[in-house]
Amino acid sequence: MSFTDLDYLEQEFIHFAKENTRSDANQAEQVPTTPGQKKMALELVDLLKSYGLRAHYNPASGFCISKVPGNVDNPKVTPFGIVAHVDTADFSAVNIQPQVHRNYDGQKIVLNEQEQIVLDPAEFPALKQLQGQTLITGSGTTLLGVDDKAGVVGLLGAIKYLVEHPEVKHGDIYIGFGPDEEIGLGGTRFDPNDFPDAEFAYTLDNGQPGELQYETFNASEAKIHIRGTLVHPGNAYGLMVDATKLMTDFLSQLPADQSPEQTKDKEGFYMVVSASSNVDHADVDLIIRDFDWDKFTAREQFIKDLVAKLNQKYGEDRFSLQLDRTYLNIANFVRKLPYVVNLAMDAYKKVGLTPQPKPFRGGTDGNFISEKGIPTPNLFNGGGNYHGRYEYITVEQMDKLAETLVRIAHEHVLQSENGRNETPLPAD
Ligand SMILES: [Zn+2]
Repeated sequence: MSFTDLDYLEQEFIHFAKENTRSDANQAEQVPTTPGQKKMALELVDLLKSYGLRAHYNPASGFCISKVPGNVDNPKVTPFGIVAHVDTADFSAVNIQPQVHRNYDGQKIVLNEQEQIVLDPAEFPALKQLQGQTLITGSGTTLLGVDDKAGVVGLLGAIKYLVEHPEVKHGDIYIGFGPDEEIGLGGTRFDPNDFPDAEFAYTLDNGQPGELQYETFNASEAKIHIRGTLVHPGNAYGLMVDATKLMTDFLSQLPADQSPEQTKDKEGFYMVVSASSNVDHADVDLIIRDFDWDKFTAREQFIKDLVAKLNQKYGEDRFSLQLDRTYLNIANFVRKLPYVVNLAMDAYKKVGLTPQPKPFRGGTDGNFISEKGIPTPNLFNGGGNYHGRYEYITVEQMDKLAETLVRIAHEHVLQSENGRNETPLPAD
């Protein structure tokens, strides 16, 4: 028993999966960074128009924007938004050939005979639960683009369903299909005026049905420049200041046990992304991550203090620091509107999913959209093995996403009429 038309979801997924929409951080000055993403956004505009909706492309943000107009006359039913991203991760996306495995038997699949690339449930046990479903994989040499085309197509399924079923009551729903999420630019360029008066929104990025993410890292980036003094080594006595030695001193004072490979769950870290030096100068690029706001700002302060201390030690302001916030924990914003999380979890239960809120050790478009005034937790798209040659999705999982979104829209009407679930989110 499917909720929407499975053949339609399959056909749309295969169509969009074949398009090369890989984003490119080296072309950050362009919107979107690659032409394939714009092509897909424009196609989505046309597709939504074919559903009978108004839709447009925003050239400043690269988003395809649309709205499913509400069919209830109750101002308490506030508008909300749903966002999926069209770009794919940093992995080959040239000549993607989706493979459809109908009535998947739960056994291993040879994706590429020549290179012996095998998708094996022994290695990826989550596959076993998909037995009997219509599984779609790549052909082993590229990614499939499940992240986030599964989200795009699940959302399309929900939109089409709502348009075709006017008896399902819902308020205004804004739709955004955005570019460049994988390189952290999509959400930063999102224009909140495209979702006017939206009280909240959801992203559909990765995760299994039932998962929900409203806690993410707070993130900042520290660039440390170190100035040495280069003189001829033969005349260097008492004059040369070796920037490499100063850099080594700095690096040795970072907490050795607070790095990504030694932390988990809600623990924060420092990570040296790059360090390069010669006698004349040195540069360290460092990222700072923490879920907890106080611990996060304490980490930032630690770096500031360390730079100040080393300047005292070596004099002449040898160290300079540029510290920039990259994104902030979605929970900072969502805690003021717990309804946005409760609504989704109540809808999950009604479609038979077990709500599984999970902290996410990263960031999403929702971090940036939340910061722009629209609290935006992340739901799921239902795929697996994101960002590589082993990506997969089933048509049934996209159907479940469509059903869940329709249920959220309707549940929002019911709770607006009968009282919202305002239960506070659990404390840290
Ligand atoms: Zn994604």
